[in-house]
Amino acid sequence: MRHEEKESHAPEIALSVRAHDRAGQHRTDDAWLERTWADPRTRVLLLARGKFPVDASGTSIAWICPDEAPDGQRVFLGEQDGVARFAVLLAEPVDDSWSNLRSAGESLTTADASLLVHAVALAEWHTAHRFCGRCGDRLQVAAAGHVLTCPGCGRQHFPRTDPAVIMLVTDDEDRALLGRQPSWPEGRYSTLAGFVDPGESLEDAVRREVAEEVGVEVGEVTYVGNQPWPFPASLMVGFNARALTTEITVDEDEISHARWFSRDQMLAEAEAGALLLPSGISISRTLIETWYGGRLPGRW
Ligand SMILES: [Zn+2]
Repeated sequence: MRHEEKESHAPEIALSVRAHDRAGQHRTDDAWLERTWADPRTRVLLLARGKFPVDASGTSIAWICPDEAPDGQRVFLGEQDGVARFAVLLAEPVDDSWSNLRSAGESLTTADASLLVHAVALAEWHTAHRFCGRCGDRLQVAAAGHVLTCPGCGRQHFPRTDPAVIMLVTDDEDRALLGRQPSWPEGRYSTLAGFVDPGESLEDAVRREVAEEVGVEVGEVTYVGNQPWPFPASLMVGFNARALTTEITVDEDEISHARWFSRDQMLAEAEAGALLLPSGISISRTLIETWYGGRLPGRW
């Protein structure tokens, strides 16, 4: 992903960008929304099953004018550079040329990525929440796509986000622990991760997940940064975790193999193609490269 500017010394995390004004005050102003939809300067993103149209380069969103948009569920994303941005959610992509966030993610501008992550998360929520969980009635869209209301019981449903922890575990020799899932191709490794349990703190989730997956006890847990990951509704909260023990016992379920890497080992194996590290748009890669102290070769 291209970043036009760097705002701080915090690790740069792809997709974790705020490059549009969500302008939430307009979501319930139907007159404003209709007037803005009629404005030819307004730009629209089409989205279906996580896919969107791209321009001739294949790497930028092909924004269209409202009068070019097919019928679909209209959601208001906000404003960027004084221009209103909507998404129209469709059942199917219009043709095979559409791309998705995973494959186009690294080449998107920060401006587009910000809007796209918002739109994809909303679309996933709409797809999975058609009926009221309390009374079963069909839900109706409100607040320009950001609320679903139930005509049966009156309950309002809001977009949900599921917190997950993702952590780079290091030991006293400053080696990093990476693991691989049973289904992954040979050589692919990543940081450990898992969902937060109900009623659990983020730090305890880090300690529990590491203990469950690889049998390593973790002491100090330090927050690094976070990343929206709308596949379908996660917020990945990234940490550094300090191991108190180093013996590895994998659970054989989520993790089939895990091992400690020194910086030299990681570089040598990645250069040789024996080690495949996570993609550039994942916070996992940011955690690994921040520990390593620079860019590493080799990616999925
Ligand atoms: Zn209901």
